[in-house]
Amino acid sequence: DPEAILGRQAARESAARTYARSLPIVPVRAQGMTVEGADGRRYLDCLSGAGSLALGHNHPVALQAIRELLDSGAPLHVLDLATPVKDAFTTELFASLPEEFARDARIQFCGPAGTDAVEAALKLVRTATGRSGLLAFTGAYHGMTAGALAAGGDRAAGLGGAAGRPVRLPFPYDYRCPFGLGGPEAARIAARWTESLLADPKGGVEPAAGMIVEPVQGEGGVLPAPDGWLREMRRISAAHGIPLIVDEVQTGVGRTGAFWAVQHSGVVPDVMVVSKAVGGSLPLAAVVYRGELDVWAPGAHAGTFRGNQLAMAAGAATLRFVREERLAERAAALGERMLARLRALHCLLPAMGDVRGRGLMLGVEIVDPEADADPLGARPAAPGLAAAVRQEALRRGLIVELGGRHDSVLRLLPPLTMTDEQAETVLERLGEAVHAASA
Ligand code: PMP
Repeated sequence: DPEAILGRQAARESAARTYARSLPIVPVRAQGMTVEGADGRRYLDCLSGAGSLALGHNHPVALQAIRELLDSGAPLHVLDLATPVKDAFTTELFASLPEEFARDARIQFCGPAGTDAVEAALKLVRTATGRSGLLAFTGAYHGMTAGALAAGGDRAAGLGGAAGRPVRLPFPYDYRCPFGLGGPEAARIAARWTESLLADPKGGVEPAAGMIVEPVQGEGGVLPAPDGWLREMRRISAAHGIPLIVDEVQTGVGRTGAFWAVQHSGVVPDVMVVSKAVGGSLPLAAVVYRGELDVWAPGAHAGTFRGNQLAMAAGAATLRFVREERLAERAAALGERMLARLRALHCLLPAMGDVRGRGLMLGVEIVDPEADADPLGARPAAPGLAAAVRQEALRRGLIVELGGRHDSVLRLLPPLTMTDEQAETVLERLGEAVHAASA
């Protein structure tokens, strides 16, 4: 009985129960983009395990890799010993990286969540530079452990245990541009601001061990970093000898229309953080970095669950499939078409304040349609309305998650394998849900 399960869960689990709170469904079966609840209802899933299911649920390629490993008699738990499975995964991962970066890259498996790999990245650059400061960005999200939390823009406030206080630099956010501008001009000013802050001897910015950035802010409200701005961050961090950490946890594996989002800009990072989709639906995380940063003493970053063989097998098969089937290109093309359709809906539905995204990482900012717009045309965020849209969407068989500064951005992270018909249905249901909630 789904109601009984939901009731027991609500009584026993912590008050946080993050996803279960907002999505009162009891999934029992799933295939591709479709999730079936215990009540027999079917949903189109645009959450995709918070962006970790590049191929959707139970893709045959991932399942086959998992079954083959289970049937092979290979050990499932090997700590982080060398195995053929790990070798195959690492080879496939390195082949997918920007060439200049891969040539001399090292990998440290972390585990098993994205936040663990962020911690490792922060620890690595602090060890390598001997400095402790950190440059992070407004609205960022890097995870929920102490260091990652501190690197996040707004989350650290009020959530216990953030370690350290980074300098927060402005991340370009066109719709609510703090500079009174949008587009390339705003990105240029954000870069200049950053540069002058770092160059100011009396600015109070302590020497930083690293700069950590998401190529597209996901939890922060689906904000693609302009390519030119990212190149500026690369130039500025290099000029100050500060390693650039690119967090590709959510943007990686084809999601944004390139295999790695950093490839859009041509920026070569010093450190890359990978997780989510690299595990082919199972938990896996790693930090990949330039060889010269490899200053760790043996045993400097240990941990029991860093060699998940099933995740590596599923992950290697997934990475290969994304590469061979050119799914990044498909995500780019389909994302472009969906964005065009969302822009058309945006003209019809005033509650859609802004639509944006890159590839199949799309966001719709829900605003108060009755309120006055500011001089640049932005209306106040409407988190209550956004939550109502999410519920209306769920009633219509569509799973979407919220994010953004005010929890007012609908986030679409469909699998890269979504069909054109499914994309059409998503847009229809989304438009109906916005209409119903704001009527
Ligand atoms: N970095 C980014 C960019 C993320 O989007 C997330 C998760 N949403 C994380 C890190 C943390 O990953 P995890 O939830 O697996 O700890």
